[in-house]
Amino acid sequence: MRWDSQATQVAQPDVLPGLARLNTFIRSVRTPEFAGVTFHEIHAKSALNKVGHTSAMPFTWTINPYRGCSHACVYCFARPSHEYLELDSGDDFDNQVIVKTNIVEALRADLAKKSWKREHVALGTNTDPYQRAEGRYQLMPGIIEALAESGTPMSILTKGTLLRRDLPRLQHAATRVPVDIAMSIAIFDDELQRTIEPGTPSTAARLATVTAAVDAGFHVSVFMMPILPYLTDSAEQLNDALERIKAAGATSVTYSAMHLRPGVKEWFARWLNTHRPDLTPRYRRLYGDDAYAPAAYRKKLAARIRPLIRDHGLAPAVEDPNTGSMGSTAAAQERVVGARVSARDSDGLWRRRPNKERTSAPDGEQPALFAL
Ligand code: SF4
Repeated sequence: MRWDSQATQVAQPDVLPGLARLNTFIRSVRTPEFAGVTFHEIHAKSALNKVGHTSAMPFTWTINPYRGCSHACVYCFARPSHEYLELDSGDDFDNQVIVKTNIVEALRADLAKKSWKREHVALGTNTDPYQRAEGRYQLMPGIIEALAESGTPMSILTKGTLLRRDLPRLQHAATRVPVDIAMSIAIFDDELQRTIEPGTPSTAARLATVTAAVDAGFHVSVFMMPILPYLTDSAEQLNDALERIKAAGATSVTYSAMHLRPGVKEWFARWLNTHRPDLTPRYRRLYGDDAYAPAAYRKKLAARIRPLIRDHGLAPAVEDPNTGSMGSTAAAQERVVGARVSARDSDGLWRRRPNKERTSAPDGEQPALFAL
């Protein structure tokens, strides 16, 4: 185990009955580098998760090396997934992170199965694969290599600047399979970002990561998700955000109003009452008992942001016909690869072709949410 020499406390399984029940639990680890965070190491039986056929997500397979996320975004809609482990969806989600330490081996075993059809695999759809823990556990390099070697297309969505570490590896992977990169940047006000996404890299650092990925040859999409009613949704705020996204070199943008499902709503309400109590009545009126902002609000938001996206020369992200993920619309030379229609640029990197037939969502609707 990589952390044997650094562990300062090894907890007993009975401290967290939900984890002990998994029977793949190895141990819990704390280290001074991650004050307040406990990592629970488990052995995954498999790495590839199949998304339910009723899901609105535009992909079928995901990999989540971590459960819980120290990026600690208050609005994170993966929070309720922690409750299955008898952990809470608030502070525990931020500070009790499950690590699938053997995920690369498990993935290689999954990919070697005859039944594996090399469908697109999405990373970062539940929790962030480049959260801080990745700096120590270093699971992503092996995952990227295993997917590329097996001929499996992949997409990565992250808020983590650690992505830069793997850009050379991703460049290499993109010579073999389609690789999509998207950066999640929803908050462009530094003070707001520090309170509502307290564990994330700064907005400026994420924009610099977009530029680094663009310089490495990728068409990068920015996910402005979620847009927070009355906090980040004015025309001026959206215009400023899109200007900075464009300046960073991104080619496309996708957006969505905040979704507050049960298990998230309570934590967001707590944040709102503490930091912006003046907005509590307006949020109560807007969301009521619902998880989604009302259609009227979403239509108004669409009417405001779509012309701005166009004015800044950014494309709305589209669903890719080959990989099923949301991402770049950058033009590329088309080629047919087996059953997939994909694109390989003159620099040899696989990229997806634009799909002019399907927009990210019908007029006035929002595209399917990813979990970031
Ligand atoms: S929204 Fe994404 S980055 Fe933020 S806590 Fe959730 S998984 Fe982590």
